[in-house]
Amino acid sequence: MKTLLNVFGSNVFSDRVMHQRLAKNTYQGLKKTIDEGAPLTLEVANGVADAMKKWALEKGATHYTHWFQPLTGKTAEKHDSFLVPQRDGSAIMEFTGKQLIKGEPDASSFPSGGIRATFEARGYTAWDCTSPAFLKEDDAGNVTLCIPTAFASYTGEALDKKTPLLRSMEAVSRQALRVLRALGNTKSKRVTSTLGPEQEYFLIEKEYFDKRLDLILTGRTLFGAPSPKGQELEDQYFGAIKDRISKFMRDLDIELWKMGIPSKTKHNEVAPAQYEMAPMFETTNIAADHNQLVMETMEKVALRHGLVCLLYEKPFAGVNGSGKHNNWSLATDDGLNLLDPGHTPHQNEQFLVFLAALLMAVDRHATKLRAAASNPGNDLRLGANEAPPAIVSVFLGEELTDIMESIAAGRPAKGKGQHVLNIGVDTLPALPKDNTDRNRSSPFAFTGNKFEFRIVGSSASISGPNVVLNTIAAEALDEMATRLEKAKDKNKEVTAIIKDTMKKHARVIYNGDNYTPEWVAEAAKRGLPNVQSWIESLKDMNTPEAQQLFAKYSVFSRREIRSRFEIYLENYVKCVNIEARTAITMAKTLYIPAVVSYTKELADTVNALKSAGAPAEVPAEHLQKMSGTLKSVVEKLGHLEAETEKAHHLANTEKRAIAYRDKVFTAQAALREDIDALERIVPKSLWPVPSYADMLFSF
Ligand code: ADP
Ligand code: MG
Repeated sequence: MKTLLNVFGSNVFSDRVMHQRLAKNTYQGLKKTIDEGAPLTLEVANGVADAMKKWALEKGATHYTHWFQPLTGKTAEKHDSFLVPQRDGSAIMEFTGKQLIKGEPDASSFPSGGIRATFEARGYTAWDCTSPAFLKEDDAGNVTLCIPTAFASYTGEALDKKTPLLRSMEAVSRQALRVLRALGNTKSKRVTSTLGPEQEYFLIEKEYFDKRLDLILTGRTLFGAPSPKGQELEDQYFGAIKDRISKFMRDLDIELWKMGIPSKTKHNEVAPAQYEMAPMFETTNIAADHNQLVMETMEKVALRHGLVCLLYEKPFAGVNGSGKHNNWSLATDDGLNLLDPGHTPHQNEQFLVFLAALLMAVDRHATKLRAAASNPGNDLRLGANEAPPAIVSVFLGEELTDIMESIAAGRPAKGKGQHVLNIGVDTLPALPKDNTDRNRSSPFAFTGNKFEFRIVGSSASISGPNVVLNTIAAEALDEMATRLEKAKDKNKEVTAIIKDTMKKHARVIYNGDNYTPEWVAEAAKRGLPNVQSWIESLKDMNTPEAQQLFAKYSVFSRREIRSRFEIYLENYVKCVNIEARTAITMAKTLYIPAVVSYTKELADTVNALKSAGAPAEVPAEHLQKMSGTLKSVVEKLGHLEAETEKAHHLANTEKRAIAYRDKVFTAQAALREDIDALERIVPKSLWPVPSYADMLFSF
């Protein structure tokens, strides 16, 4: 027990460590910046840098890095040693306030979507003091001081995932606070969005991974016949964790705990070889940083155990893919969870306003949420008959829905509890404190004291979805705050707000099974968008309306939005292009040669049998079938090559992305069908790559 407590946060320059090690006025100065956004003086920065350096050196660090999150969705770091040689041949260890607050990585090789031409390659990283610095250790024994930073161009445009996240947190904080004030809260000073991202992943044997070029280059299997056993026995979910995996999980937890990442829950997931880790929720910005570290650490620790961690959304066709459940809420600095129903009529009233705001936000901007939660991999999940469809609806549960509907209709709600609460002129039953209703198929589910946004992809940065969520919540809260500020009778206005919201936005509420075709039809009737592909949904992020929204809340400038649109389209094109080229290579160098040599073997057998006067129909028929499919493979391969070539040469990015989706992707899927059919009939010993059964059931 003691050891565990010693481990947690041991590599974090935490508030506790700062309190111990910083001079009093330095500590207070920094806290003012962290808590209230006050400007940071160089004097304070110098004090912090010096203490940070001493702490890191004591722990064996040799280097420091400005750790940032460029638009690749991964993290980036460039290591500088603390060492500064002196004239007399000796050296000192140096780390100054200036080095702490600002870095200048060469930005030219990161995606910028045209914001920064390569000739003016300069970008800079700026210390984000709201997320604590930490030490990263690697197997080579290196210890590096990592300073979380935001990454921007010299003209002030965001080039990363963190900057807009911080801006969106500011926006939602401001508007939520206005609502609280209008409802009479004079105490809370700040509202922060909170986030608990559950992370799903697969683990497979490294030995198998190494033999699959598709997994190595694209993260998913481009080919592979289904295993005779899939997930139909439903024996994996919450099943006993095998020792081998348990060892990995233990190691993972220790590495995460050292960095102060509150890894809390671990279990087997639905698909074979699939698992999940859920941390305790934190301030969104910190949770987003931590989620990046979680993904990186999972990959690293898996290798130590001879395993490979697959974070891709859909590594295996026909088997559930992986997501990241984005548990989200708003909290005040004095400990109120704004999505918690609370005990008093007043708290309930406040809760209902926030709930209404979320309904309004999600209904208005469903496609933006869909876009922000997607990437090429997630397209293979959404809309397939697993994990939420691409229709973004909200689950409230029967009881809460009834309460909202009753208020809107001006009639008493049924409710479970006996006692009735008053809000203004209306009466309300006690709100359900524990929402035991669970709906695993809803993309945006209320789970008692938070929303769980469940369509987010497993491999992507968690920032994007939260930028959108915070911004659209800010917009809805802004409108509600304006109404409440003007209203003479606040209680009446709350009722009116709920009424109006339900009138316009109740269509987004759906408590049933989201996987059914009936829901798809019903959603269409209600006019809810059902956007099947990421690139199509992205368009909704690049409209004048979207530009205005994000500019209004100072989250993205128009130029930033446009550049991101470009980058994401390009990213889609590049991913599908890499997949196509990998598929072509595998077909030519692995599958076709294997099948050709098998057909030769068969032909030899047929000839030998014939000359011996023995019956040869069975192998002859088999050979015929094989040759037929092989011919089809060659044709489809040619088609895929031609389509890839054609798409590649389209000048317009949007058209290119569409061609990759409609032509290249489909050509590749067609090729897969034939190869998978061959896999079912070619002897296992001759098949050139490990099968689904090998990879998914080897433990
Ligand atoms: P389930 O799998 O049943 O949804 P888990 O316990 O696996 O539940 O995950 C729930 C997640 O929600 C955890 O990460 C938890 O910390 C997080 N969470 C709980 N309360 C909040 C909150 N107020 N804001 C954000 N996340 C929260
Ligand atoms: Mg969970």
